[in-house]
Amino acid sequence: MNRDGVVLISGGSRGLGLAIATSLLNHGHKVATFSRRSGDAVERLKDKYEKSFSFFEGDMSDQASLSEVVKRVEKDCGPIEALINNAGIAIDGVLATMQPTQIEQLIAVNLTGSLQLTRLAVRQMIVRSRGSIINISSIIGLRGYAGLAAYSATKAGLDGMTRGLARELGPRNIRVNSIAPGYLETEMTHGLGDTQRNQIVRRTPLGRLGTPDDVVGSIHFLLSPAAGFITGQILTIDGGITC
Ligand code: NAP
Repeated sequence: MNRDGVVLISGGSRGLGLAIATSLLNHGHKVATFSRRSGDAVERLKDKYEKSFSFFEGDMSDQASLSEVVKRVEKDCGPIEALINNAGIAIDGVLATMQPTQIEQLIAVNLTGSLQLTRLAVRQMIVRSRGSIINISSIIGLRGYAGLAAYSATKAGLDGMTRGLARELGPRNIRVNSIAPGYLETEMTHGLGDTQRNQIVRRTPLGRLGTPDDVVGSIHFLLSPAAGFITGQILTIDGGITC
């Protein structure tokens, strides 16, 4: 990956997105990220990496906001060399009793937002005939989980986007892949009860939940020349729970 370009990460204020941003910065990449609000960790990164890190406020469910973020990133930080569609929300509930607005919100943030952001960010990649896109999907999109049907649909949708876009953009030298993590220790899984958590650990051959750091190595790999012939793939990182 060309270090002059910037890696744009959606949802880098905490959890997996923050871990990816921090690791890429530590390895000398230029990083831009956005979410609805900043936080202490973002402010610390701004202080430490004044020249190579930028944070913007932006909302995945708002098309105008995404447009503004991409414009500002390209103007302030330089060409977008890689896009990591990481921002996401999980709302659990039995589908029959979910509110229609909850389903709309899940689709707007996880799927429509990622499609719209990619639509905007990929234009300059096409002009430059280079780039890499990584979609953070989930094993829930591959295997399903009771109480997460709507979330699962958004993640399966992201994997569909990976396969379709890989074909569309391969001839432009742009690679598109998904990373499908298993259960990770982030705010998103804080709501898991003891019974659910113990069951997940029992069913995971490696005997634990993952951490964001378990995923960042594969981001480095997919962005590197070592992955130069890999596109349209879904890389599962789940301690073996789906094997
Ligand atoms: P997290 O800790 O809840 O962080 C989510 C990030 O997305 C935050 O930075 C959040 O910032 C941002 N975000 C949420 N809604 C947004 C919106 N409307 N606009 C802009 N940014 C928004 O979650 P995580 O566990 O790191 O998850 C990261 C990705 O990994 C998600 O796509 C998730 O589905 C996927 N994943 C997670 C797990 C897991 O077990 N944790 C497993 C598989 C896949 P703001 O709230 O400030 O906007």
